[in-house]
Amino acid sequence: MSGRFRAVTLRLFNTLSRELEDFVPFEEGVVRMYTCGQTVYDDVHIGNARTYAFWDTLRRYLEWRGFRVFHVQNITDVGHLTDDADMGTDKVEAAARDEGLEPMALVERQLGRYYRDMVDLNVERHYVEPRATCHVQEMVETVEKIVDNGYGYVVDGNVYFDVSRFDEDYGYAEMSGMDPGELEAKPRVKEDPLKRNSADFALWLKAPEEHIMRWRSPWSTGYPGWHLECTTMARRYLGATIDIHGGGKDHVFPHHPNERAQAIAATGKELANYWIHAGFLTIEGEKMSKSKGNFYTAREVIDDLGGDSLRLYFASSHYRKDADFSFEDVEQAEAGVERIRRALGRLESAEGGRETYLRREIQVMRNDFTEAMDDDLDTPLALQAVFRFVRESNKSLDNRREVLLEASDAIRKVCGVLGLQLDREVEVDSGVVDILLEQRERLRDEGRFDEADEVREELLGMGIEVQDTDEGFRWTAT
Ligand code: AMP
Ligand code: ZN
Repeated sequence: MSGRFRAVTLRLFNTLSRELEDFVPFEEGVVRMYTCGQTVYDDVHIGNARTYAFWDTLRRYLEWRGFRVFHVQNITDVGHLTDDADMGTDKVEAAARDEGLEPMALVERQLGRYYRDMVDLNVERHYVEPRATCHVQEMVETVEKIVDNGYGYVVDGNVYFDVSRFDEDYGYAEMSGMDPGELEAKPRVKEDPLKRNSADFALWLKAPEEHIMRWRSPWSTGYPGWHLECTTMARRYLGATIDIHGGGKDHVFPHHPNERAQAIAATGKELANYWIHAGFLTIEGEKMSKSKGNFYTAREVIDDLGGDSLRLYFASSHYRKDADFSFEDVEQAEAGVERIRRALGRLESAEGGRETYLRREIQVMRNDFTEAMDDDLDTPLALQAVFRFVRESNKSLDNRREVLLEASDAIRKVCGVLGLQLDREVEVDSGVVDILLEQRERLRDEGRFDEADEVREELLGMGIEVQDTDEGFRWTAT
């Protein structure tokens, strides 16, 4: 990796400044991080899963870097409307109605599925996983502060955020890179006639007659606007200004500018110092989304190819880039996982020799891994370092046993940062390999080439590649 810029500290791309910045947390050694989580009306799709897996990797990497991390990720069970312009219905209510369920019955069922997916993807539980419905009273208090400070107005039981007023005082659209004029001009399918300006957004909505989820407030019996929960819960659990706030890139506008505006309007303080956004997983170039129906659930892919394969697949593209999903790419990742597992099997079962040179390579791998991850979590580059080392270690079984075990431990640790579990024991029994190699030779001598090829395939499945040369056959571990 010589010649590349050597990052001294972790650098992250901050959407607010649109620059790569050195990461310096507010309190030394501690990171407070909030990421926008699942709206629990449907199953986790692989796009959601990629984003959650990335936050998990970021958290694990921060810990690898020695930080103590407090990571909060919310569960949205009320307030997320089917339309950004506050004119749709609540996603949970609508889905529950379609299924003939009470909204909270749907939420409980979906939460069970969500946690099963997260366990299989090895996404660790978060420090706090607050649910919107449990924090409505605090959200009402946030709205009261916003209204008292002159940034909110009440119309007919609804409360709206006054974007132009806020923009004059603080600048509203910085993160999206759009100016307020552009926002005004953004075409909307339908517009809420009660708003003063189309860029304004709902803080509180009066519940229509048939709306089941409703709470009392000074303005009406109703329910909170979607952006309010994150502003309120991030501060509730992590304090006034947090270090990292993350979400998918769909949150660059309007969700995150609105969360931020609410926080500043309520308290005069910034909500977060680093705003991090993950790219989309697409299907045939289009954003996969539940509302369009063009998605695979995380469960389908986990059941088919396993959580580790998905995690390796996610790590093989940079989090800020969009990636177009294909099963072939996940299958390729599955083969990569197998390669790592086989290398671990060899390292952990080999008798070892007298050499120690692999120790130097362990250090090189760790440095390359850290350097790549420091550069805005360049997981594809970090993976190259891992696979380089895996190849190296396959050739280095003449190292002392303790060095081989250090090597396997190093692989497990860096892969652990990327969320791989690698817990399935794979042992390559060298006795079996010898028998199969002999058998193949015998079959070839007897001219039974088809059967010899079958044995060759079997060996390949065990990670042994056989090549025939003029001097006889040679085998290498893949
Ligand atoms: P939602 O349940 O729609 O609120 O989304 C939950 C999280 O998944 C948010 O952080 C979204 O930005 C993210 N997300 C939604 N769709 C995709 C996608 N196609 N690719 C990557 N992340 C996504
Ligand atoms: Zn949010």
